[in-house]
Amino acid sequence: MERVKCLIIGSGPAGFTAAIYASRANLNPVLYEGPQSGGQLITTTVVENFPGYPQGVSGYDMMEDMRAQAARFGAQIRMGIVNAVDFGSAPYTVTIDDGTQLQADTVIISTGATAKYLGLEDEKKYAGRGVSACATCDGFFFRKKVVAVVGGGDTACEEAAYLSTLAEKVYLIVRKTYLRASDIMQKRVLDNPKIEVLFSHNAEGLTGENKVQGVKLVKDLGLPTEEHYERPIDGFFLAIGHKPNSDVFKQWIETDENGYIKTIDGTPRTNIPGVYAAGDVADPTYRQAICAAASGCKAAIEAERYLNK
Ligand code: NDP
Repeated sequence: MERVKCLIIGSGPAGFTAAIYASRANLNPVLYEGPQSGGQLITTTVVENFPGYPQGVSGYDMMEDMRAQAARFGAQIRMGIVNAVDFGSAPYTVTIDDGTQLQADTVIISTGATAKYLGLEDEKKYAGRGVSACATCDGFFFRKKVVAVVGGGDTACEEAAYLSTLAEKVYLIVRKTYLRASDIMQKRVLDNPKIEVLFSHNAEGLTGENKVQGVKLVKDLGLPTEEHYERPIDGFFLAIGHKPNSDVFKQWIETDENGYIKTIDGTPRTNIPGVYAAGDVADPTYRQAICAAASGCKAAIEAERYLNK
């Protein structure tokens, strides 16, 4: 069985930054990319808040740069999804989806988080036929069409603003009477004539023959003014937050009630010695690329110190 000093799981900013630091520290890291090479940023349009890019950078380009930087120092970047781990005793055994097993002296978990859905039957029914959780991936199909985005956070506002550059009209479906997004993102949405914000609205279903053609809405749910009606749309985008990708580790690693991996005292250490968690899988609070990159760096430094002990 192959034995590696440092196994990194996930290919977002946390994973690649850990790979850069671990390879420069001669840990010969092996990184498994997971289901979405490049992580969530691959589906982001423009990243405007990562220091060093005064004009912004596309998420795709940024992740390609990080990958190239990790590869330059010798990190082995492999396709594959980790679908089982045994953290019972070191070296730890990790199983990849093709059946390969490896032994790892240290493991850096940087598996990120995945977009949430509302849980409507219609989301499944129309999957790939007008329902999406990624405006950047699928917005192109809705040029000059009408779309709806669900959510009131930064992601929803960002997606609505992006879609407004392609679609004819964008509804933003917000369950509260206000947006949770940062002021700058709120302003971008509220000042955009192509975006209509539907406050106090929930989506309760979708309609259409073979593809999405309408959304069933409820306004003022639970109030005397409650009202149900339908609006024609062509695309339905979810932007209501994320679930941490920690299920495969839960048997061994402590998580909080939402599944975020618990780390110790501001470090990326988990309850298992030599196993670290970096990036969104352990960050319910900040969830920013720069924070993920920083925690990936810390995890690699921790792994190096652990191995040197
Ligand atoms: P958030 O958790 O911030 O927002 C989720 C939104 O979805 C909220 O408006 C929430 O409503 C709504 N929502 C959740 N569940 C449902 C539901 N079942 N039905 C209807 N609405 C629902 O997630 P984001 O993905 O927007 O952002 C995550 C983090 O990433 C934040 O810290 C954000 O600041 C950051 N971010 C930063 C960006 C940037 O700076 N450029 C870009 C994107 C994200 P409610 O408010 O009622 O709870």
